[in-house]
Amino acid sequence: MYPTKEMDIRTERKENLQQKLIKLKEEKNAVILAHYYQEPEIQEVADFIGDSLELAKKAAQTSAEIIVFAGVHFMAETAKILNPSKKVLLPDLNAGCSLAESCPPDAFREMKEKYPDHMVVTYINCSAEIKTLSDIVCTSSNAEKIINSIPQDKPIIFAPDKNLGSYLMKKTGRKMLLWDGACIVHEAFSLDKLLKLYKENPSAMIIAHPESEDHILKVANYIGSTSGMLNYVKNSDHDTFIVATEAGILHQMQKDVPNKILIPAPAKEDNTCACSECAFMKMNTLQKLYNCLKNEEPEIILDNDLMEKAHRPIKRMLELS
Ligand code: SF4
Repeated sequence: MYPTKEMDIRTERKENLQQKLIKLKEEKNAVILAHYYQEPEIQEVADFIGDSLELAKKAAQTSAEIIVFAGVHFMAETAKILNPSKKVLLPDLNAGCSLAESCPPDAFREMKEKYPDHMVVTYINCSAEIKTLSDIVCTSSNAEKIINSIPQDKPIIFAPDKNLGSYLMKKTGRKMLLWDGACIVHEAFSLDKLLKLYKENPSAMIIAHPESEDHILKVANYIGSTSGMLNYVKNSDHDTFIVATEAGILHQMQKDVPNKILIPAPAKEDNTCACSECAFMKMNTLQKLYNCLKNEEPEIILDNDLMEKAHRPIKRMLELS
């Protein structure tokens, strides 16, 4: 495709906005934390790019007065819980998460009450209210370590992701009571299309996030968190990979391994990019990011008592990881 005048104008506009954002960030002593699933033009202006665990750690360490979280709502909430006195902004308050929403607090409280002797481990992809009902939080990077740190005779409830939960049961040999939640993006991969793609690329390694369904994990050569997948691709001798997680990760991955071939795992539904994208993550745009830092809104506001209770299980996770 030849560059058109329209493309030049779009690039110029993007670069102008990025420069204005960088200037504004310095003036306001703000930090931009961006998840790997964000659009490349957002990742380019971020101070830190990472997965949930890396960003939670960065949020805990920052000395900036304002945190702009380019990610989804539960991530910005976690940043606020770790920094109650700071201003935490999210470019679009509607950027939710299907997995977090699959675990409503009232129903979860009811389940917890039925099993009072169980320890509650929750994946970080849940609301602040669910975190207040948890003993310890985990991410896909540290979940195995956290489950293994719990005494063998202590029964466990794991929420909200049943796919990650059943993967962890296999890895750790622990039986756990699983909440029936899932992420629509990681459940959107088509096994048939994946196998067809593999047939066309027989030397490819299939790598998958543990939020994916069991039949996808069964054919994967490597299963790991977002950062785990990035490291795997960097250190592997192979040169072609089929990547089963949100397609936004491909931007950072390709930067790390410019000479390797990366193919997004195909989704069941046909869409414009033929891959799986998180519509919630993509609600944030460069323009919304700029507007939110300029106007210092939308801001994440949480009740002090809720923040205090939700902080305990996150603190336990950070101490263990
Ligand atoms: S990819 Fe899934 S788990 Fe991640 S933010 Fe989107 S909906 Fe939530």
